Amino acid sequence: MRYNGCGPMLVTPARATQEVESPMSRQYTRTPADQRFWPKVKKGDGCWLWTGSTDSHGYGKLLGTDHRLISSHRFSWQLVYGPIAQGMVLDHLCRVRNCVRPSHLEPVTQRQNVLRSIGPASDNAVKTHCVRGHLFDEANTYTKTPGHRQCCRCRKEYRFRRKLGNALAIGALTAFLNYVRGVADITPTPLNPPKP
Ligand SMILES: [Zn+2]
Ligand SMILES: [Zn+2]
Repeated sequence: MRYNGCGPMLVTPARATQEVESPMSRQYTRTPADQRFWPKVKKGDGCWLWTGSTDSHGYGKLLGTDHRLISSHRFSWQLVYGPIAQGMVLDHLCRVRNCVRPSHLEPVTQRQNVLRSIGPASDNAVKTHCVRGHLFDEANTYTKTPGHRQCCRCRKEYRFRRKLGNALAIGALTAFLNYVRGVADITPTPLNPPKP
């Protein structure tokens, strides 16, 4: 915002936005990084949120044992899956930047990551959730043809509804036929009785 001349002028030092919050003491960093990591993670049913310091973009940061800052989501993913292949970045499928849940992260190339963040440019590659809002994570993604992802939950529900629909239709048809037969047996009078 431009300063309009009213009130005190607020000047944000340029450095402050780039720096990461709270430099940890040397003594603290002697504890292995994974022991310092988990107490700062709030696990929920969905995302596991990083409660430690974050950078100006909202990504969690952790001081590594070698005193270098590392991304908490990258750290978390590597604890489970091992080293990240060179040139790959971790994409947040849930779009929650401080989420560190490994299953919500997917290694992609820088190019894929850019495509995903642009928006509906490359449609299917971009989608992180199905039309009904289910997350396309590892467990919930059905890929028949590469690049075309389907939601497992919706697929299941669709199949169930189709089965149920068929069963109901057959039931209704049977009942209707029985009814028609019943009516025919009871009332054999012709629709247009001949006039005397
Ligand atoms: Zn998440
Ligand atoms: Zn779905």
